[in-house]
Amino acid sequence: MDRDLILALRDVTARYPGASRDALVGVSLDVRAGDFVAVLGPNGSGKTTLVRVALGLRSPAVGTTLVLGRPAAAWGRRALARLVAVVAQREDNLFPQRVRETVLLGRYPHLSPWGAERAEDREAVTRALERCDATALGDRWIWTLSGGEYQRVRLARALAQEPRLLVLDEPTASLDIRHEMELFELVRALVDAPAGGLAAVMITHHVNLAARFADRVLLLDAGRVAAHGRPADVLTRETVERVFAWPVAIQPFDDRPQMIPLRKPSP
Ligand code: ADP
Ligand code: MG
Repeated sequence: MDRDLILALRDVTARYPGASRDALVGVSLDVRAGDFVAVLGPNGSGKTTLVRVALGLRSPAVGTTLVLGRPAAAWGRRALARLVAVVAQREDNLFPQRVRETVLLGRYPHLSPWGAERAEDREAVTRALERCDATALGDRWIWTLSGGEYQRVRLARALAQEPRLLVLDEPTASLDIRHEMELFELVRALVDAPAGGLAAVMITHHVNLAARFADRVLLLDAGRVAAHGRPADVLTRETVERVFAWPVAIQPFDDRPQMIPLRKPSP
């Protein structure tokens, strides 16, 4: 078995009950340790559904999803949570608790059945807070955080899981430039860390940051893979204009394609 192949989607088609069309059609994706894959696509193109399928939360109608060679739905929740951590797009049920306790929740798949926290759990929490520049927030109540602080705490909680694959669904949506850049830099550094062997799948609307930070881009269009590969091969003017239905210019910067949306020509 390919030990580095963490996630494998094979020709996955998925449809929600009652929906008139498939949310995903024939999508394949391999994610290995050391890969940073960005998933791009218009609203409703199936990005979040891809995450749900990858986690075994939705079973594909056709195709398979394998995590370390085993169907995602066949893993127990705790065992899967030791392999894959998710920073979800939305999260509503916030417990009234402090930041450290929130990040400690990320340790649940590692805790003993009695749930007693050990020194190594506390160390993992401290490390995760440090990596996310959130150490100073440790004693704050979760509801007092700004949008950006809260995102960093959610990422810290995911890192406290010590997963092999990190999945982030639009994690920079409420971040300013510095925190947005720091998040991309952090994910890149986690993937590149020599000992870590982490893989990352990041769903984002930041075409340009995806092009600069990711090794590969998966571009979805109405549930289908419009293009998949190196940023320079995927993010061509023709493809971006077709998928996002808007005129753009593409210019290289640091050897990566950068997209500039054009103004509509006046009538
Ligand atoms: P994205 O994350 O790219 O915006 P989603 O994966 O959330 O897209 O949605 C893909 C398609 O599936 C959309 O047409 C959306 O309306 C539909 N969809 C998403 N979640 C559900 C659901 N729980 N029930 C029915 N349809 C859904
Ligand atoms: Mg989504």
